[in-house]
Amino acid sequence: MHPLLRDDLARLPELLDETRAYAVRLLAGLDDRPAAQAPVRREPVPLPVEGTGLKGAAETFAERWEPGFAASAGPRYLGFVTGGATPAALAGDWLTGVLDQNPTSRADSTAPDLEREAASWLRELFGLPPEHQGVFVSGATMSNVAGLAVAREWLGERYGVPVAERGVAALGPVTVLSGTPHSSIGKALSLLGLGRSAIRRVDPLPGREAVDVARLADALEELGGRPAIVVANAGTVNTVDFDDLRAIAALRERHPFWLHVDAAFGAFAALSPAHAHLVDGLGEADSVCVDLHKWLNVPYSSAIQFTRRRDLQARVFANSAAAYLGPVGDDPDPVHLTPENSRRLHAVPAWFTLAAYGREGHAEVVRRDIALAELLGERIAALPGYRLLAPVRLNVVCFTLAEAPERVGELVTAITESGEAFLTPTVYDGVPALRAAFSNWRTTEADVERVAGLLGRLAP
Ligand SMILES: *Cc1c(COP(=O)(O)O)cnc(C)c1O
Repeated sequence: MHPLLRDDLARLPELLDETRAYAVRLLAGLDDRPAAQAPVRREPVPLPVEGTGLKGAAETFAERWEPGFAASAGPRYLGFVTGGATPAALAGDWLTGVLDQNPTSRADSTAPDLEREAASWLRELFGLPPEHQGVFVSGATMSNVAGLAVAREWLGERYGVPVAERGVAALGPVTVLSGTPHSSIGKALSLLGLGRSAIRRVDPLPGREAVDVARLADALEELGGRPAIVVANAGTVNTVDFDDLRAIAALRERHPFWLHVDAAFGAFAALSPAHAHLVDGLGEADSVCVDLHKWLNVPYSSAIQFTRRRDLQARVFANSAAAYLGPVGDDPDPVHLTPENSRRLHAVPAWFTLAAYGREGHAEVVRRDIALAELLGERIAALPGYRLLAPVRLNVVCFTLAEAPERVGELVTAITESGEAFLTPTVYDGVPALRAAFSNWRTTEADVERVAGLLGRLAP
């Protein structure tokens, strides 16, 4: 054994204690750490030939890298849609690395069954019917990829073309209808060989991001009975608008289509009694995407993908040529259900946080974040110089500078430089705007007042 490895092994308890103490200091400082850092490009240094052992590596990391990291796990990082990590999720994440399981098959451990349990808990959490079965992937983009891959196979089934065997070219052109799809849908279609141009945007309702279901019905009618894919959106990123899922699902009585719902963070509306109606009909979908590293507050990388057609999913992702992995069968191992073969046991942090806080604990986070978004919305509506661009429907406040929307970029920079908060810019309905997205379990009213105070001071 290399002497540095031998030394680290001998001192492992002590070294891990030091790492733990460092982690505790970082977490204790999360509230005071700048929410985001103005990005500075760091060039790579040459590969160390002689290493420095864990202690030396940790020192280099603490000196060279950690100071440039954002407080994205902290309470006033309101950019994108970013969750933190609950205490239990964090502990679960550590233990994932400690046990280092590869959950591809059931040949050597119960690890895949932990994923099955966590997936069934999540299915219950979002109120999906038992026909939906979930698998863990690395993020909502991969969940959309996997869901749309199953959709592609379903189209093949309708046309009598086994796409997984013959390739997407055998399928011919595919139409994907959607109102306000997330950018990752285009990426997924590119990756799946369906092409970004397969998307046909259907007009939303006036002044909304939710699709106009009558127009969607017209677009399906125009296909003249050709099967299609409909991507419904449950929680758009700018204004968190929701398609009418039940009405869309009902269109399947007259038109053949696969209904994929991107509910990356919108699915969590199911946990708030006042908002659960927004995801009414989610269980009717053929496939559903939900991110977990957003509102479940587990560390990156974690998302879940549900579908009613696991048989088609296994056709797409079967790794059947490897004799040592065994047959796909009726109850396929994870290796036959997702893009990866070997991978991390993604489900552990989700399992820990659900075991630790249960449905009620997570519902409290969701309800609180929604209330905080509403509070910031009220504060911004009352601030001179600002204007809300949409009502606060769930956990995002979308707003702009009332007199000078073109100066939003400067405002974003000033907010970032203050270190107090981080918000991301967007363009909504042609207007440069900002979004404040609440999905962290740590955020409190005091944080909202701090952000409102900051916006007041920075108003032009
Ligand atoms: C965040 C998000 C995605 C993509 O999620 P990643 O975890 O970044 O891959 C997809 N759809 C919606 C609606 C999202 O909010």
